[in-house]
Amino acid sequence: MNKTISIKLKNQKIISLYSSGYPLITKDIIDSIDFKEGSLFKLVNGSGKFIAKGFLGKQNKGFGWVLSNRDERIDKSFFKTRIEKAVKYREWLFNSKDTTAFRVFNAEGDGIGGLTIDYYDGYYLITWYSIGIYYYKDIILEALKESVEYRGIYHKRRFDTKGQYIDDSSDYLVGTKAPKPLIVKESGNRFAIYLDDGAMVGVFLDQRDVRKRIMQRYSKGKTVLNTFSYTGAFSIFAAVGGAKKTTSVDLANRSRSKTKEHFELNNIDTNCQDIIVEDVFNYFKYANKKGLSFDLVILDPPSFARSKKRVFSAAKDYTKLLEDAVKITSKNGTIVASTNAANFNMDRFKSFVDKAFKNLNLKYSITDSFSLPKDFKVDKNFKEGNYLKVLFIHKK
Ligand code: SAH
Repeated sequence: MNKTISIKLKNQKIISLYSSGYPLITKDIIDSIDFKEGSLFKLVNGSGKFIAKGFLGKQNKGFGWVLSNRDERIDKSFFKTRIEKAVKYREWLFNSKDTTAFRVFNAEGDGIGGLTIDYYDGYYLITWYSIGIYYYKDIILEALKESVEYRGIYHKRRFDTKGQYIDDSSDYLVGTKAPKPLIVKESGNRFAIYLDDGAMVGVFLDQRDVRKRIMQRYSKGKTVLNTFSYTGAFSIFAAVGGAKKTTSVDLANRSRSKTKEHFELNNIDTNCQDIIVEDVFNYFKYANKKGLSFDLVILDPPSFARSKKRVFSAAKDYTKLLEDAVKITSKNGTIVASTNAANFNMDRFKSFVDKAFKNLNLKYSITDSFSLPKDFKVDKNFKEGNYLKVLFIHKK
């Protein structure tokens, strides 16, 4: 293991920030040192007194993470203690009969930035978000194996400079291989999970509470438009909740077969559901021209997307997206607006909603709002880690 680097903090404000548990290492902290992925560091004050220790690892968010405010050894037993605590915290999910997919370890929220572990019915999926944390792969894998009972363990490496997924070999690590697909349950419904088929496995676990709310309170008898629909997870929950009809729109070709697979897995007649492979922005134009309207419109765009025709950035373009959606929502209908963009907060997101309705000269009220579910634990000293923002908006 690398020698621990000592970093002297000079500024009193920064000293109190890290003394009180702030976890992220920012650029100014590492300016004076020789940056090496995976190196352990100690933060000390002007007189050399210990403040915190952690590891260096470049990520979109910063340059490393504090692991502890105690001067303890960072070894297998350190990681094991953190993982065991995280497992214990999710006990109600491990015991659940109707939900068998959830997050077991949520990076800095569980005390190790750059590392997440998800659970899929006995299989574990580790995601590494920096080369720095991947440096500890062997001991973290051992720590996980000693902490849980598993059928198999997979991993994803998402750590080139842009946080892109590295796809150069299988993602399988140990244990038995998962079936393709692996069938998991969420709130009693089924999802098809592919653990070794690229960056994404088929479902975004952080939307569990939102899907349940859509199923239980917003779908019965409604016409539903699910935009940026991916594998159709929201459409499935709406259909199970009694929607009259769902329409799923995504520009990726794979979305058609994946969504169909999900409908069939949940015994829903696909003849009553539309699955459309198209750019959502074109679909809005088409729907407007045809005078279509829906009782429930779901918006869950990527925070940033570049296509041949346009660049979409949630921070810049969400207001316009909302206006397009509101136009094809029936009076007294609901828009579910979701974003995982980390560069603006809930207040700012609400201001986009307000602006969109003002621009259209319409009134609205917010009937429900969601951020990350409990298993996506957030560090109390790093609230910006709670990136998910979902608003249910009633169009008056
Ligand atoms: N709402 C989904 C997740 C969305 S992921 C769920 O809950 O499972 C984002 C999706 O947006 C991807 O499937 C991607 O193919 C799609 N996408 C990105 N830009 C798009 C566009 N302009 N039109 C339609 N789909 C788009």
